[in-house]
Amino acid sequence: MSTIGKDHLSVDVLIVGAGVAGITAAIEAQQQGVDVLLVTKGAFGRDGAATWTSGYGFQVAANPPDSPEIHFADTLKVGRFMNDQRLVHRLISEIIRQHRNLDEWGVRYLKENGRYVMMRLPGESHPRVPRLTIPGEWAGQEYRRSLTRQVKKRSIRVIEDLFVFDLIATRDGIAGAVGLDLRKGTFLVIQAKETILATGGHMGSYRTTTIPQASGDGTAAAFRAGVTLTDLEFADFYAYTAIWPPVTVGEIWPSVFRYELNGKLLNRLGEDLREKYRGPERVPPLAIEREVKAGRGSPHGGAYLSIRHNLREEIDRVFARMGHPKWLKRLQAMRFDVVEQDIEVAPAGIVSFGGCRVDENCATGTLGLFAAGEAGASREGAYTNAGNSLPLCMAMGAIAGREAGRRAKKQNHHIPVNGKVEELCDRALGPMLRDRGVRPIQLRRTIQEILAGYGSLIGRNEQRLTEGLEKISQIKKSDLEDMCVTVKDKTFNLEWREALEVRNIADVAELILTAARARKESRGLHYREDFPKEEKSWLKHVVLKKDGEKIDITTEPVTFPYLSPPES
Ligand SMILES: Cc1cc2nc3c(=O)[nH]c(=O)nc-3n(C[C@H](O)[C@H](O)[C@H](O)COP(=O)(O)OP(=O)(O)OC[C@H]3O[C@@H](n4cnc5c(N)ncnc54)[C@H](O)[C@@H]3O)c2cc1C
Repeated sequence: MSTIGKDHLSVDVLIVGAGVAGITAAIEAQQQGVDVLLVTKGAFGRDGAATWTSGYGFQVAANPPDSPEIHFADTLKVGRFMNDQRLVHRLISEIIRQHRNLDEWGVRYLKENGRYVMMRLPGESHPRVPRLTIPGEWAGQEYRRSLTRQVKKRSIRVIEDLFVFDLIATRDGIAGAVGLDLRKGTFLVIQAKETILATGGHMGSYRTTTIPQASGDGTAAAFRAGVTLTDLEFADFYAYTAIWPPVTVGEIWPSVFRYELNGKLLNRLGEDLREKYRGPERVPPLAIEREVKAGRGSPHGGAYLSIRHNLREEIDRVFARMGHPKWLKRLQAMRFDVVEQDIEVAPAGIVSFGGCRVDENCATGTLGLFAAGEAGASREGAYTNAGNSLPLCMAMGAIAGREAGRRAKKQNHHIPVNGKVEELCDRALGPMLRDRGVRPIQLRRTIQEILAGYGSLIGRNEQRLTEGLEKISQIKKSDLEDMCVTVKDKTFNLEWREALEVRNIADVAELILTAARARKESRGLHYREDFPKEEKSWLKHVVLKKDGEKIDITTEPVTFPYLSPPES
């Protein structure tokens, strides 16, 4: 029996996660006239959400001759036709509506003669990213400001610092969720007619990441609750993450060099990687990894991102338009001249594409559960274009919220919460009750090392993936069971929160390696040394589901209701 207090709450629609998907879901669900609760493990508007840190782009086909049809086709092409076409078709039209909302809610878009001023990012048939009237690096804050203001304006109930660790799975479907209220140090059981998982992705499972807090909590909880998952082998690693000079490590502003100044990716010998590589390997993260492994990387383990081929006046003009960003001032202060000296970049985890399998309503197939944003799969397929994740995640939130609201309105009772809640709380409390064992931080690092060593981008092969899986399985059997939180104070115990995250990271790492081993071809950034080609016969999803202590693995063919993949 758990020895700490439990509070109970009952709502119509529970939304777990307050990133772009969760916030949009909450707004749309509330519009259906139901009682909505939005919860997040951090501070509302300032946590998790990748949007808040960069927000370089938001693709929307708002200027003809661009159109939703062309946006749809571009999304499929870069996704290597692994996207769920019915879902994406619906999302692309929804993006237009959500973008109109953003405009109405005060995002400061730059317009000329009534048309959005657009910029073009790689992979777009037409310029599709609306510029803002403020410097680009503030875009994330701009979206955050507009969206969080709407939540406040509509008096949507928000609970912060609530770490949801499990879904309450019953024979009749998902009855809600259970979380740790970090402020009080007590558990909170939330009964909901419909639950939406909007917990973001799992790129924090990797050692090199732009978003450490993305520990795949929703995906892992869904897996434990028996929900079907898919596409876990696919993810995006951002090639233009700074690794040198040191004051810039982990930042992604080098996108400015790539997109606005046509930056060149060069190896130690000065070879242009985009010219050197062809086919699937041309994708920048793969090309960088390959060069580093071959000993031709830049001194700090990446590649150079060079803008020297531009005239200084052109570079100055771009920086002036951006309002002379803070990172530039920092570099200038240390006498680093970006025109004369090349910065170094390397791939880091940024967006995950796998998660709960959902239909075009973002329903998971398990009654009472929806998934939106990065917690839901098959929106981007095997790979993505810069600036497409944010709008697709937002559109998923809108659709899930609307549909969950409609369904909740028709139901006049909640699914009874079963005795399982006690078991879930006991498990969550376990690391607090142990006096000795492995610390969560140690275990997090070990799992990240395993993913880096056995499941990294270009190193995937049958043998290494199998070894990685054995190591993770060993950790799950022994170390995870021994995990111990050294600080025993219950309120705001961040080590306890970390222990809960580490359990999720362990589950997610196992799912990633399992899916990567099952896919015997290369597609997107999933590159198998032993199966280096993209195979038409592999236009199928790897589908994973919990089966007792094992993972049931099946495949399901991708369908092409709108657009067929090219013959070659
Ligand atoms: C650095 C960076 C820059 C990016 N820039 C761009 C860009 O310019 N353009 C673009 O299109 N895409 C960009 N992306 C991708 C895009 O921002 C994300 O795909 C998108 O914002 C994901 O939205 P989401 O709502 O699914 O998840 P998130 O925004 O990550 O939100 C997840 C929410 O769930 C909460 N949560 C998680 N676990 C729990 C739990 N256990 N209990 C309670 N709450 C929980 C989190 O606290 C957070 O509130 C970027 C990503 C990164 C990391």
